[in-house]
Amino acid sequence: MAGNEDKADKHVPTKAEGAKEHAATPETDTLEEKAKHPPCPTCGEEWDGDAVFCSYCGYEETDAANPLHPMPVLDGGVCDAVKALSAEEITGLKAAIAGAGKSKPVMFATFNTPDDQTPAGIAFSLYNDWTVGLKGADEGLLILYDPRRKRVEIAAGRNLRKSLKVKDSMEITKELAQAIAAGKLIEGFKTALDKLLK
Ligand SMILES: [Zn+2]
Repeated sequence: MAGNEDKADKHVPTKAEGAKEHAATPETDTLEEKAKHPPCPTCGEEWDGDAVFCSYCGYEETDAANPLHPMPVLDGGVCDAVKALSAEEITGLKAAIAGAGKSKPVMFATFNTPDDQTPAGIAFSLYNDWTVGLKGADEGLLILYDPRRKRVEIAAGRNLRKSLKVKDSMEITKELAQAIAAGKLIEGFKTALDKLLK
């Protein structure tokens, strides 16, 4: 239940705050209180205090209230956002993805879904963000593993969704979760891909 919790500003000042005091411009403009933000930790510019990212270099502030901000980064089809995978597993996943996808995006991510959100919702958000402008996104596939809930969830492009039966995909995700629990992530992942992309 999302209650009426105190909606107080959750902005947490960054460590860099106060670290670099920019030499001010010659005449100080007192009309507006300038830049609530410290200078950007990446490029040093000061950006609009209401924005969540630096308009000069694209650096994004971490928002504790939004786990997808900034968006986790995908590398070779894999994003181990919560560091749940071994190096071997990441290598194995990338190889399986390179072999499976061809013209459509195939992705695997780990993510601990916050209590007020669903793994399916997170998977969908990641899928949409990662496939923006990508060829074959209609048939793409993202498999999400939530280690905290020990759950696997999938998000798929529109055309792939048409051919997936809900019952089948539920079984496939359950089997993959079991495979992961048994330490057989790569085998389970390959089996899941075979079934989902057939
Ligand atoms: Zn910047």
